[in-house]
Amino acid sequence: MSGGTPRSRPFGEAAREALQDVQLRRNLGKATTAIREKRVRVTEELPDWQELREAGRAIKAHTLAHLDHYLMRLEQNVVARGGQVHWARDAAEANAIVQELVTATGAREAIKVKSLTTDEIGLNDALASVGVHAIETDLAELIVQLAHEPSSHILVPAIHKNRAEIRALFLRSMGLRSDELSDAPADLAAAARRFLRAKFLTATVGISGANFAVAETGAVCVVESEGNGRMCTTLPETLITVMGIEKVVPGWRAMEVFLQSLPRSSTAERMNPYTSFWTGVRYGDGPRAFHLVLLDNGRSDVLASDDRRQTLQCIRCSACLNICPVYARVGGHAYGSHYPGPIGSILSPQLVDTPEVDTLPFASTLCGACYEVCPVKIDIPSVLLDLRLRAVERRRARRGRLAALDTEDGAMRLAAGIFAEAHRYRWMQRWARLVQRPFVKDGYVERLPGYLGGWTRTRDLPAVPGKTFREWWRDREVDA
Ligand code: SF4
Repeated sequence: MSGGTPRSRPFGEAAREALQDVQLRRNLGKATTAIREKRVRVTEELPDWQELREAGRAIKAHTLAHLDHYLMRLEQNVVARGGQVHWARDAAEANAIVQELVTATGAREAIKVKSLTTDEIGLNDALASVGVHAIETDLAELIVQLAHEPSSHILVPAIHKNRAEIRALFLRSMGLRSDELSDAPADLAAAARRFLRAKFLTATVGISGANFAVAETGAVCVVESEGNGRMCTTLPETLITVMGIEKVVPGWRAMEVFLQSLPRSSTAERMNPYTSFWTGVRYGDGPRAFHLVLLDNGRSDVLASDDRRQTLQCIRCSACLNICPVYARVGGHAYGSHYPGPIGSILSPQLVDTPEVDTLPFASTLCGACYEVCPVKIDIPSVLLDLRLRAVERRRARRGRLAALDTEDGAMRLAAGIFAEAHRYRWMQRWARLVQRPFVKDGYVERLPGYLGGWTRTRDLPAVPGKTFREWWRDREVDA
């Protein structure tokens, strides 16, 4: 998946399949509508919401412009407070570091806080290969782990599942009788709590990602809603945090901004139920060993691009997913990436280099809603356009001389030629009126033949009217 395993299918193909799943669309529609409406309420109640967005953007842009300085400062402060810092160029290096750290403790299990970064590098599989079972402790993450499915949302990984499906899964995987569990949310949460409690109390290694790290003091931060993160970062003897290098912020004043904008944009809450900070290690209080793995995995290349650097401003709130009309219909699995939705469409193609991932920037209507909700003002539509251009250039380079035979290129060239001259355009309208006849019913072109059929397969195409506006105007003047 993104960052680690490349997707194997183009987005269009996976999306077509997802669109056939009526239950999936129903689940997604219900969940994204509810969270969207709630987000609007909690952001509108802040008179300075737009100023907060601008402050978030400015802090992130400044930090990225001086990333080397803030990362070195973070390292110094983590080490000064008893932690250890490891630098990982890519997923393989990060996995090797964590494998070594965990196996050195002798642990066969590790409890995990939900972390997109560890998903990106495929850490659970890497740990399994050295005999260590990683247990996800976030409820939704546990659900997708038990179901052996990838996550479909960056904040609510099991958004594609409803209560009945989750109950059936828990009955199967937790060895419960059907009279022991209803599909009431409280019952489902209680079953997960019982299952996880024993793990929390016995695990000696905890693994987390990080929402932020404060360079000024070396403090690392995880925000979450269930308290599992607090358990994972305080109970085990060894804590390992894997963090993308873009998560560092200069100081505590930055946290004032992000701890307001992140919960409002993600879970539509005024404040996260649990916000955990830890700074190095202290005898008798929390883990005895703390390791911070700083992951690059393609981020330096993103940083080097003036046009696309803003992608790294993302605080993974998921507001862009919930507002996106494409995501709401196809769900996260169609993106084939651990970063689905609009942010995945701009981040994954910059981290993974395959023709299939290059189709993700086209998974958008370019309506701009993602930009309007983003709490750090990432201009997602502009980055999408930039990546589309790059994808087309790469496709042409791959095909070499055969590019001239590309149907899409040919169609675009033909359209450009027609639109360039008024008389050609008028001739085209007359011609289209004639040739569409066998395909029109009730004012719509129902089905086009051959390559053009791709357009009418999932869309209504209004028929070319019997009279153009100009013809109507001319006839009106004659009649008058
Ligand atoms: S791109 Fe913006 S809206 Fe989307 S997840 Fe990142 S911060 Fe949130």
